[in-house]
Amino acid sequence: MLQDKDRIFTNLYGAHSPGLEAAKKRGAWHLTREMLQQTPEWICDQIKASGLRGRGGAGFPTGLKWTFMPKEVRDRPHYLVVNADESEPGTCKDREIMRHDPHLLIEGCMVASYAMRAHACYVYLRGEYIAEREALEKAVKEAYEAGLVGKNNKNGWDFDIYVHHGAGAYICGEETALLESLEGKKGQPRLKPPFPANAGLYGCPTTVNNVESIAVAPTILRRGAEWFAGFGRPNNTGTKLFCVSGHVNKPCNVEEEMSITFRDLIETHCGGIRGGWDNLKAVIPGGSSVPMVPAEQIMDAYMDFDTLRDLRSGLGTAAVIVMDKSTDLIQAIARISYFYKHESCGQCTPCREGTGWMWRVLERMAKGQAEMSDIDMLLDVASQVEGHTICALGDAAAWPVQGLIRHFRHEIEDRISEYRAPRTMVQGANVA
Ligand code: SF4
Repeated sequence: MLQDKDRIFTNLYGAHSPGLEAAKKRGAWHLTREMLQQTPEWICDQIKASGLRGRGGAGFPTGLKWTFMPKEVRDRPHYLVVNADESEPGTCKDREIMRHDPHLLIEGCMVASYAMRAHACYVYLRGEYIAEREALEKAVKEAYEAGLVGKNNKNGWDFDIYVHHGAGAYICGEETALLESLEGKKGQPRLKPPFPANAGLYGCPTTVNNVESIAVAPTILRRGAEWFAGFGRPNNTGTKLFCVSGHVNKPCNVEEEMSITFRDLIETHCGGIRGGWDNLKAVIPGGSSVPMVPAEQIMDAYMDFDTLRDLRSGLGTAAVIVMDKSTDLIQAIARISYFYKHESCGQCTPCREGTGWMWRVLERMAKGQAEMSDIDMLLDVASQVEGHTICALGDAAAWPVQGLIRHFRHEIEDRISEYRAPRTMVQGANVA
């Protein structure tokens, strides 16, 4: 388990000022100039050696992603775009970074931009993050006034940072929809290839990274790749922000060691499961897009990319949604399905039609008003959506449904059977 001295986000709960002087005392902007005197390749190598995997959900190796950018700037500028469109249900970690530790993010933007030979960075925030935008803009202003960023800054790499406020669409968290939106167009995902590293923002080489991935980079470089790689397990290294919600005694955001067990995470930071461990029913371990895992499988599982993948789920954004035995799982997944139906951009037929279809069937199932054959039919619809769309929203809509049927098919069957059972007349009741 993580010691306080190993936490990167030491102001996660806002106990101290987010301002520049306080951030410097916590370690931000220390040795930044020295980092930028190294070569871009050295920075990419360090991030690769740390084992950092993208914290936005996909878990792709961050250092490797940075090397996909062209090695030289030719006819087109390079851009870094930070995805702060944190909209995955259950996820609220980037919010805390921008509110309480914005200088770590700004410093990370500068270092990452240098590693990719970019002189400009855009931070794209979700529409609802008004306080976060204000906090970030204030910190950006401080950084400019202190000469830490901008032209001819003290750190030796000309660098401008722009904060862009989205309009509240979940799909703009998908990297190419985000780029479309940033360009002033309707936020709809692009077909890939071309990938952003080749043709991203304004058709120029671009890397899109999550807030947490970028904000941890300067500390990794300051403390060393080995230090970060020393936490967790091979291929699942570092510290990680977990957002725990649902039926625990004390929901919270917490930075912990990657690969902490679910039980340790909940016992140490969340005061245990509401009603005790026997009352745990299922957990969605990585935001609404990943399938749920039943209690007996997750209790002692490592909370990391590979373990949760092996459980046919995922770490995703590490938004851990805990559900006890009072939860109507069918209704819960129906609600999630409604979310995806609502947020589908409508470009692809399987997603546009399938998400609404799955939601309507699940709503009927939640009431028991379905046929037994509807269960397999729902699975079939989910498999027709999964992997047949332009972006991953289609998969994200299909996976929770598949997870429900995989693990709790009997609950759906019981609900349908109950509804269909002949009603017994209550003696003496007035049924007129
Ligand atoms: Fe739009 Fe859905 Fe297709 Fe993604 S999968 S592009 S959200 S219709």
